[in-house]
Amino acid sequence: MESDLLIGGDIGGTHMRLALVTPDGEILHQSREATLVRAGAADVVGRLALQCREMMEEGRRAGGRARAVGLGVAGKIDRRAGAVLFSPNLPTMNGFPLAGELGRALVLPVFLENDADVFGVGESLLGAGRGIPHWIGVTLGTGVGGCLILGGKLWRGDDLGFCGELGHMVIDPGGPLCACGLRGCLEAHASSSALKQGVRDAVNGGRLRKGILHEACLTGELTSELICQEARLGDDLSRDLFHRLGWSLGLALAGLFSVLGLRHAVIGGGVCSGWDLFIGPLMESLTHHSSMLDPGQAVIRRGELGDEAALAGSARLAWARISGSHESTS
Ligand SMILES: [Zn+2]
Repeated sequence: MESDLLIGGDIGGTHMRLALVTPDGEILHQSREATLVRAGAADVVGRLALQCREMMEEGRRAGGRARAVGLGVAGKIDRRAGAVLFSPNLPTMNGFPLAGELGRALVLPVFLENDADVFGVGESLLGAGRGIPHWIGVTLGTGVGGCLILGGKLWRGDDLGFCGELGHMVIDPGGPLCACGLRGCLEAHASSSALKQGVRDAVNGGRLRKGILHEACLTGELTSELICQEARLGDDLSRDLFHRLGWSLGLALAGLFSVLGLRHAVIGGGVCSGWDLFIGPLMESLTHHSSMLDPGQAVIRRGELGDEAALAGSARLAWARISGSHESTS
């Protein structure tokens, strides 16, 4: 008898990654290719369909059958229509019925999910959130994403296309401008974009006039990895930017812990490579801003699965949709 398999995916602004996954979240095969989002939505779907067909073929070779596709996408998602409403990383996808178009091409059900939600489900199933019933998930990448796992399940709120959007909590109304148009969001302090903007502001303000970051800023080669590297070498500006990142996260988590009566958080995403640079300021800020929680009870964990959290999580949510099971993550 053929075993049930799923295709889990993570569609980012730079890469589209897919995996062949068992219903339990075990990844059997992975692939990655450039998204090339400027080529347009139809072109992206065409290449995505090819990538999915390769996965389906891999599934057959493994003695199984792909039953559905789950895709994590950054932004606001209409889950029922399977459309991307607004994605900052995939502007040509806005309003596009991605799930319907891909589903027709593959003759398989396709489900869209928010990228931070699939991170949360993946970490809950197999990673740092395993065995913890209630926790707050945070992803630190180009932007800041978030999710809530409550009672072992992904919290959907009123199903408005967004939920757990920590990145757009205003933590300083007079703070830096955010990509969403507001001022002082967490994302404007704690994302890789915020780290880079901090360097650009120092260059434009004449506070940074030489050195590797100055040069990278002028040549357009500035990355958060470079800022991380400079911080480790003792560069004051870079250290301050990671300090601000930790401070802002501690402030946001302290408020959420008080509101929700929780004490666990899991933080993932590429910016976690600078974990040692921000976890100290984060814990200090959390202690400073906690009114109800005894700060000693707070547990802040680093995600364990890296990129695989989103692949396992998107597959798991697709399985929940087709099998009619609750979206339990365990
Ligand atoms: Zn914002």
